[in-house]
Amino acid sequence: MNVIDSKPYEMLIGGRWQAGREGRFFDTLNPATAKRLAQVHQAETTDVDTAVLAAHSAFENGWRRTTPAERGRLLKRLAVLFERDREKLAWIEALNVGKPITHSLESLKAMPSSLEYFAGMVPAVRGETIAVGNSDVLNYTIREPLGVCALIMPWNYPMTLTINKLGPALAAGNTIVLKPSEVTPLSTLALARLFEEAGFPPGVVNVVNGPGATVGEQLVTHPLVSRVSFTGGTATGARILASTASDVKRVTLELGGKSPLIVFDDAALDKAVAVAAGDIIKNSGQVCIACTRLLVHETIHDDFIDRLQQRLQAVRVGLPEAADTEMGPLVSAAQKQRVEHYIQLATEEGAKPISLGNLSLDDTIASGFFVSPTLLLQSRGQMQSAQDEIFGPVQSVIRFTDEDDALRIANHSRYGLAAVVFTRDGGRALRMARGLESGSVAINTGVRTSFDAPFGGYKRSGIGKERGLEAIYENTQLKNVKYDMSV
Ligand code: NDP
Repeated sequence: MNVIDSKPYEMLIGGRWQAGREGRFFDTLNPATAKRLAQVHQAETTDVDTAVLAAHSAFENGWRRTTPAERGRLLKRLAVLFERDREKLAWIEALNVGKPITHSLESLKAMPSSLEYFAGMVPAVRGETIAVGNSDVLNYTIREPLGVCALIMPWNYPMTLTINKLGPALAAGNTIVLKPSEVTPLSTLALARLFEEAGFPPGVVNVVNGPGATVGEQLVTHPLVSRVSFTGGTATGARILASTASDVKRVTLELGGKSPLIVFDDAALDKAVAVAAGDIIKNSGQVCIACTRLLVHETIHDDFIDRLQQRLQAVRVGLPEAADTEMGPLVSAAQKQRVEHYIQLATEEGAKPISLGNLSLDDTIASGFFVSPTLLLQSRGQMQSAQDEIFGPVQSVIRFTDEDDALRIANHSRYGLAAVVFTRDGGRALRMARGLESGSVAINTGVRTSFDAPFGGYKRSGIGKERGLEAIYENTQLKNVKYDMSV
């Protein structure tokens, strides 16, 4: 399937597809070959300004007053168009991010349902009447949209993250300026073509391309942007928080993680092995909620690691387009370098890295950004390699002695995005769920985000929740109105 445009990808600003004001482009690569996949037009300062003004004008001149039914109808139409084009969009994302096509197709399966869910959430944008001290006073609340939302996306799951941010923002009556990562912009730009066909008015959704340090920074600090929703690294999130502080903007941050997977001695071992291996393999470990610290009870440690090694040894690493590939390359040369640096650091810290999988660097993939699945055996919780987010197919393996020890090691992290516990002891499962400092906890299963349940991190993993009903609250502001009926 030929899914990539040969001419440079334009930006969507005020309902028009256009090049950047100064005609500059940048390349986006195929990570499996390190070769250019496409060229993309880059926004200049004036383009970002025009996009925000278009979104602001669309908000003030109509979108904020659309009926809930109308917004719901448009989102449902978008869901139908997405389903129609899902396979093509999945191919674009597979080629640009380097994820296996089977995984790309799978990860987009739920997206039409996500759009339908947020279409159905439109009625949740409502207030209530409240009995206050004076019976002459009618007190009620109105839930109102915020205005222009800047959505800043990372490179690992461009489309699922875009849909899950954009659905509730539009359902709540906001307009949008979106900036995909400059590393993987293609699937988002292809998705943006569906908005006009779905019937969204010009300016309601805008997409600008370019580097975060210039285009992203200008977008989030633009005075007409009321809300920023960011997914990406913790350092970038902190920077955005600082740069938007003086304007006291609404900011939602979905940041990094170093999530623990805790396997007790009564665990369903086959399932626990599958979850541990899956978190290394899926998107080559470039997943914010991936469990990258594997805590195994000392009595089952050796047996568990034997089984995990066997599974990882059989992982088929290869080209994203091959139907039997389980794991593709990392997204970029920089990411590959980062992962290799941490494997080296782990060795210096006293861990024992073991590289698995069937990666044979034949001519086809020799130039791509491939790294084998790697276990860092004999790690300890305080090692830097077990504390920093690596964002690759690498897992630190740590032994623990009992429940308290597991909890202590698991919580010894500046992150708190997700955690997984495997045990058949119900009381222990509930104690762990209560004790873990984490925005999501999964018991006897992997952490899988879904559009209908809230998601967001504790500690330096983020601020605010997205998805579920919370996403509607995050995208609105609540006004309290008092009316004195005695006058
Ligand atoms: P980055 O933080 O580098 O970038 C994320 C986005 O922010 C990109 O679009 C980037 O632009 C942009 N950006 C960079 N600097 C600024 C700035 N000063 N102002 C505004 N925007 C800016 O993250 P990555 O793309 O490298 O993604 C990987 C990280 O994202 C990982 O650390 C991972 O944990 C986290 N992540 C978190 C998730 C979650 O839900 N919690 C989900 C997925 C990833 P550009 O790259 O184009 O220059």
